[in-house]
Amino acid sequence: MTTISTAYSASIFDVERFRRDFPILQREVYGRPLVYLDNGATTQKPLPVLQTIERFHNQINANIHRGVHRLSAESTEEYERARATVQSYINAKHSHEVIFTAGATASINLVANAFGDAFVHQGDEIIVSEMEHHSNLVPWQMLCQRKGAHLRVWRFNDQGELNLDQLATLMGKRTKLLAITHVSNTLGTVNPIAKAIQIAHEHGVAVMVDGAQGIKHGKVDVQHLDADFYAFSGHKIYGPTGIGVLYGKEQWLSQMPPWQGGGDMVATVTLERTTYNELPFKFEAGTSNYIGAAGLAAALDYYSAVGPDAATAHEEQLLRYATQQLQTIEGVRIIGNAEHKTAIVSFVQQGVHPYDTGMILDKMGVAVRTGNHCTQPTVDHFGLPGTVRASFAFYNTMAEVDRLVEAVQRAKQMTA
Ligand code: PMP
Repeated sequence: MTTISTAYSASIFDVERFRRDFPILQREVYGRPLVYLDNGATTQKPLPVLQTIERFHNQINANIHRGVHRLSAESTEEYERARATVQSYINAKHSHEVIFTAGATASINLVANAFGDAFVHQGDEIIVSEMEHHSNLVPWQMLCQRKGAHLRVWRFNDQGELNLDQLATLMGKRTKLLAITHVSNTLGTVNPIAKAIQIAHEHGVAVMVDGAQGIKHGKVDVQHLDADFYAFSGHKIYGPTGIGVLYGKEQWLSQMPPWQGGGDMVATVTLERTTYNELPFKFEAGTSNYIGAAGLAAALDYYSAVGPDAATAHEEQLLRYATQQLQTIEGVRIIGNAEHKTAIVSFVQQGVHPYDTGMILDKMGVAVRTGNHCTQPTVDHFGLPGTVRASFAFYNTMAEVDRLVEAVQRAKQMTA
């Protein structure tokens, strides 16, 4: 028996069929068919997600958890069903370990504040990797400043890989937490997080995994990983913007104080004193993005039907082809050559500023991202002002890689 991913071939992964589910992929820019290769920044939304959002607004909309009326009950049911869908998708042990937030950034800030308040004290240490997105770096810097704690950095090598042997040497008696990205949004590196978590736990250290990119790299199983916290955004996995998830182990969440105060997170309130609601509501102050949650559930159902393993195998083929083709262009240097990579290719062109490459590509209908990708320390490592980044989704095609390569060649000619 072979697994879906090893049995993958272009003939069984019907990209054209999937593309028809994404209305935006049919549009043109500057008179050319759009080639959307900015999936690391956000992914496009398939019809089931768009239809779920529309149906919710047209048929159900009412605020959750508060009303006795029919619509409010239906809204609440949809919201809690969405939580169960997330729970099952990431294989969380309990549905109350799934907290809905505004996105990965909000999830990480929640942990930095609530875990930080409860468990991080003056002189303690937090470890971050050098390749973190600003969202998984700045909240920890802010916490350290607030608490008089220290940030220690796990550096990567020039291939863009973290060495597990170095991790243990960074851990000490005062280390409280390791904050690490599952997948680097700039280098494409897939980090060995399961092993990193194991090492951290041997030292009694909790682990916050930034899954913003990792969530769409095959199937994520938080129990198998044994992650203490796993954060992601809906919009990077074919869902809506403004909704995200914080998975946290019950043992931590139950000990952490709430972060934000407001409606829904309370049990009783007097003018003097408040007692807090149970999990997960303790961390969901105010009106939650319940329609976004339903949209996210629709996205996870859709992606499950596509097949995360088959999707990842297809994206890896695109990555291999793009890497190979880009390397044939004189002056192109790929940034991030880890052995285990996801479908993100960052590169620079000799003598051409990344911004100029991006502008020329745009005029040819190819959407890529340029700059530091909110990972300034990562591009600083290479002494670069930024990179050009093409990031693929399962709906991209080999022909689109050809369009990318042709556009990069053109950029070279135009700036020669
Ligand atoms: N971490 C990583 C690795 C990311 O790529 C991103 C988004 N670029 C984030 C965190 C932040 O995600 P969001 O802006 O959706 O909160």
